[in-house]
Amino acid sequence: MRQVRALLALALLSPLTARAAEPVDWEAVNRIRDEGFHHSRVMATARELTEVIGARLTGSPGMVRANEWTRDRLAEWGLEDARLEPWGPFGRGWSFDRIAAHLVAPFPMPLVALPQAWTPGTDGPVRGELARVTLEDEEDLEEHRGKLAGKVLLLDEARALGDWKAPMLHRHDPDGLEELQEFAIPTDEGGPWRERARKRWRFREPLNEFLVAEGVVATIRVSSRDAGLVRVGGGGSREPGESPGVPGLVMAVEHYNRLVRLAEAAGGGDEDAAEGAEGEAAEEDSKGPTSDSTGAGGGPAPAAPVVEIDVVSRFHDDDPMAYNTLAEIPGGDLAGELVMAGAHLDSWHGGTGATDNAAGSAIVMEAVRILAALEIEPRRTIRVALWSGEEQGLLGSYAHVEEHFAARAASGDPEEQDLPTRLQEDRGPLTLKPAHQDLSAYFNVDNGGGRIRGIYTQENAAVAPIFEAWLEPFHDLGAKTVTLNNTGGTDHLPFDRAGLPGFQFIQDMRDYETLTHHTNADTFDHLSREDMIQASVVLASFLYHAAMRDEPLPRKPLPRDEAPAE
Ligand SMILES: [Zn+2]
Repeated sequence: MRQVRALLALALLSPLTARAAEPVDWEAVNRIRDEGFHHSRVMATARELTEVIGARLTGSPGMVRANEWTRDRLAEWGLEDARLEPWGPFGRGWSFDRIAAHLVAPFPMPLVALPQAWTPGTDGPVRGELARVTLEDEEDLEEHRGKLAGKVLLLDEARALGDWKAPMLHRHDPDGLEELQEFAIPTDEGGPWRERARKRWRFREPLNEFLVAEGVVATIRVSSRDAGLVRVGGGGSREPGESPGVPGLVMAVEHYNRLVRLAEAAGGGDEDAAEGAEGEAAEEDSKGPTSDSTGAGGGPAPAAPVVEIDVVSRFHDDDPMAYNTLAEIPGGDLAGELVMAGAHLDSWHGGTGATDNAAGSAIVMEAVRILAALEIEPRRTIRVALWSGEEQGLLGSYAHVEEHFAARAASGDPEEQDLPTRLQEDRGPLTLKPAHQDLSAYFNVDNGGGRIRGIYTQENAAVAPIFEAWLEPFHDLGAKTVTLNNTGGTDHLPFDRAGLPGFQFIQDMRDYETLTHHTNADTFDHLSREDMIQASVVLASFLYHAAMRDEPLPRKPLPRDEAPAE
């Protein structure tokens, strides 16, 4: 009986023993942990990227400095062929030097706001009456034509503040990680999101032209984060020859809402917005700013509020191309095969792009620094990639995948061709390039610089037991979860969509979603040394094991519409 039980136990254990067969080089793990824990440079790298180089909007002087500095640093650490790989044309560069905004009438008040990228400056301080209007389609433009000269437009409705019950700092707990392992059968992605994005994209040119033709002074949108945070991206246009429109700001919600209430009380703006205001009296009285406001209430409507804005921004037209930083640790007997790690180096301009994504850049740089410092001789070539243009739609990583591994033909529909790649629905078949078969794995680090808790396999079941084995040396650091679920939003997607094994780690979100993502608070202060060191060490070990493995990593089936290799 006892023997039978033992046999039964063995039989039950057999899937586990199969998993354990994936070798882990514990001696290499020792050396990686030692170098990563005791000789780390990861925070020095992150500090340089954020505090010295600063914001790294693609096409801006900050991005150029970041490209050059990372290339030189990787070369100094002993990587080979450190280089800048051009892609594009990306379009015009943009940077800003100054923003000041304040309420002038009915009373002075400083306003917290930042300019949207690729919108023009004001050429000195300018004033305008506030008006609350919605401009989302051609009908809206028709309705307001001839009525907006000299105004500063509040383009969003006032919004309620968010849910304040969520903790500011979030880490995965065991329950959350377990839930993450339950596979969710994918739904048809895109859908309504893509339709909205396509509509917005197509409307930007007529809108910009309208704002200029009507003599609008500036536009203001509301920040999507609370508590004085300004979450800002792009506006205007980076297309050479296309109108960038008028100065465009994003404002802290607490200030924005107040401006909307002032404008509505004075009757400036849309009917829908003016409903709660002072009715007809407001309409009559809304001509021309005066400062002797009587405030909301019984008597005549108060004068329209006036703001003053001063934005110094500039376009950079010297080089329409953008660049990815690349470098390699050459391989040995399998040198023709590749293992890659990447992160996007570009950022938005409100803060210094610390959690998004100096953190990821510093982590992948540190991982290859560790391997170079240990003078490991990888069998496969290890390539590190620091992408640009991620924030505009994963552009740099898409360009790299298309140039080296697999490309999709452009759509035959000229209307589709006009859209950015990520918004196109109708694209040609995938054509594989010879190097497609040589990429064993791409590991991406984005999502805020929190410690690695595991990895998403993107539905690749065959790779799960391998990753489980590779995570074993890091259970004591909280990294043990492998999920077959997909994650999106960052630079592993171009690889995944081209049928390449591209992965993003599960990371603790920390304050990424509550405070820092694309906001003016995304600075060095929000990076955690322990998290960054942990992530660098785990990544270095993954790269090492992927580079040394006898076989390349197993793949999932190719996307259906592939064409044979060129
Ligand atoms: Zn981002």
